[in-house]
Amino acid sequence: MFENLTDRMTNALRNLRGLGKISESNIADALADVRTALLSADVHFRVAREFCDRVKETCLGQNVLAGVAPGQMAVKIIHDELVKLLGENSTQFSQVRPLKVMLVGLHGSGKTTSAGKLARYLRSHGNYRPALVACDVYRPAAIDQLETLAAATGTPFYCDRDSKDVPAIGEKFLREAVNNSADLIIFDTAGRLQIDENLIEEIKRLRERIQPDEVLLVADSALGQEAVNVAKHFHEAVNLTGIVLTKLDGDARGGAALSMKTITGVPIKFMGTGEKLEDFSPFHPDRMAQRILGMGDVVSLVEKAQETIDQKEAERLAEKMKKADFDLEDFLAQLQQMKKMGPLGSIMKMMPGMSGLQVGEKEEKKLKRTEAIIQSMTKKERARPEILNGSRRARIAKGSGTKVSDVNALLKQFSQMRQMMKMLKGGKMKALMRGLGGKLPGMGGKFPF
Ligand code: GDP
Ligand code: MG
Repeated sequence: MFENLTDRMTNALRNLRGLGKISESNIADALADVRTALLSADVHFRVAREFCDRVKETCLGQNVLAGVAPGQMAVKIIHDELVKLLGENSTQFSQVRPLKVMLVGLHGSGKTTSAGKLARYLRSHGNYRPALVACDVYRPAAIDQLETLAAATGTPFYCDRDSKDVPAIGEKFLREAVNNSADLIIFDTAGRLQIDENLIEEIKRLRERIQPDEVLLVADSALGQEAVNVAKHFHEAVNLTGIVLTKLDGDARGGAALSMKTITGVPIKFMGTGEKLEDFSPFHPDRMAQRILGMGDVVSLVEKAQETIDQKEAERLAEKMKKADFDLEDFLAQLQQMKKMGPLGSIMKMMPGMSGLQVGEKEEKKLKRTEAIIQSMTKKERARPEILNGSRRARIAKGSGTKVSDVNALLKQFSQMRQMMKMLKGGKMKALMRGLGGKLPGMGGKFPF
């Protein structure tokens, strides 16, 4: 799968990963190779260009991380952008039951095969009781093919060899299958070699009638950009919920997989990787990105470094807290760590004694103000807040664009916090928490900083 692309990417990144410094010119050189690799894999030119622009911008704005060469960081950035390109978190399949899935697409794209594969896959992953409904009524051979697949997978099969009224067939067998306790009903439809208006009309009417939870376009990856165009057309006509990208085992160059989400807005949800029933799996953008880059080692190295840096800093701060020599400098470092972890509300929820606090926009603003106040202090003042007399406080308020009363309030809170740490140091934590009913002191149930 994507051997050529992987080879070219690996080559492009080999030079990059050793770089000790990222500059405007050397990143541009490396990205020119990446862009060529993408274009020769038949990735849409706009997708390739925007991809490289984003990577460049992020690389140049990146802080250096100890233990990681800037070039390795750049590889990680390319990986992350690739994951986004492949659809990131949009590839989940609907969880409702009964789950109605309609497969559409051009003739020969792999609809009927994928219907059987999907039934088999979701029976063992998700414990579904599938049923297959034949809505490709124009060729008897098409019905036979689905029947054979149903038999091979032990799946109940529904068809009407005498009717051509597809919406009615769909509705009738949907009801029957559900009555027979199926909770996954897969509708296999007809396809033509070209997009055909009559057929689209039929699909629309079927869609109206059965109200599917997932409408999946089955697309042949060997078609490259043409597969993306087909997807665009189908999406405009029948509003797709996802793509099944097939024949990735062939000489697929990757273009369809990489451009699909960006150009059509529709995520790839499953992939077919061979003719056999088991050659089928959910589409995982992160695994795919690692595969394409052939650089799983670098990606995990950087992730590890990112984790340990935060870990080390957290340990250092915890140690200082225990010793109660936590100063305003440490406090600032802690606030900044917290900010890196995500939105404040979700972090506070995880902290003991703070779970009940309301944290919204107002609190986020307050936190920014706190940060600004500490940043306006000198190193000496941060280490020894007790030297902060009236004139120093006035200067800090001015420097941080706050009021003296804000500075006073912060210093009061901080001194209470230190007080608390001293108690903790004395091992009175348990007694303290018990007495307070799990609330930290000096907060009054409000966000303190
Ligand atoms: P339909 O016309 O869309 O229903 O397509 P079919 O399901 O009949 O498949 C057309 C051909 O493609 C068959 O020969 C399948 O075996 C083959 N096929 C389907 N999916 C894949 C795949 O993921 N990999 C490979 N190599 N062949 C596939
Ligand atoms: Mg078919």
